[in-house]
Amino acid sequence: MPALIVGNWKMNGLGEAVAEIAEMAGSGPDPRRAALWIAPPFTLIDRAVIVAAGTVKIGGQDCHHKNSGAHTGCVAAAMLADLGAGFVIVGHSERRRDNGETDADVRAKAMAGQAAGLEVILCIGETREQRDAGQTDAVLSAQLAGSLPDDGEGLIIAYEPVWAIGTGLVPTLDDVAAAHAHIRRELVARLGPAGHGVRILYGGSVTPANAADLLGVADVGGVLVGGASLTAASLLAIAAAA
Ligand code: PEP
Repeated sequence: MPALIVGNWKMNGLGEAVAEIAEMAGSGPDPRRAALWIAPPFTLIDRAVIVAAGTVKIGGQDCHHKNSGAHTGCVAAAMLADLGAGFVIVGHSERRRDNGETDADVRAKAMAGQAAGLEVILCIGETREQRDAGQTDAVLSAQLAGSLPDDGEGLIIAYEPVWAIGTGLVPTLDDVAAAHAHIRRELVARLGPAGHGVRILYGGSVTPANAADLLGVADVGGVLVGGASLTAASLLAIAAAA
């Protein structure tokens, strides 16, 4: 299975930035080895879809759990699909932190994404304090219990230790392997055999320098990349590691 390399641009990028996506699309990896997905800010999705030319999949960084209504400033999953987006990220730790999103909110958003026909990248991960207290597995279990949708249709899990995001800190490869194995067990317990088919990404300070090691860990099906996804040169170097 090709590795999945997903870029999360967060609140970065004006119109000129879609040139980076055009370059990713033009010089992308061998599709047998890696697939490139980018989640630009909402404001760039329509332009990104055009320049991505079907080669790079474009997605949203969040969606509302309802289809429409009086929710000023929010974006429905169906609106993302309408723009040509193919996936949505839900439950990113920055949204949990900045917007107070709970596991129940994340679950509702994930199900809205599925209903709109999007693939859904559902993010979970422990804080530094939780890891130091030996609570990593318990935290991941609780997040999955509260946020997993009823079925695994189009579902992808991103394991993102909160303390590794944007910090330059990365867990040991053994710790990544242990977390992914734990997540896999939980997915199978919850979804049955379908749980084996859910891809699990690692995210947190992935760079061209560490991508090969991380992508080589058992059950790491790809990476979710923030800072290092903003330029084509950097993301293509990560993809080349696949
Ligand atoms: C992220 O935003 O999901 C992320 C992993 O960021 P970074 O790669 O910058 O740590």
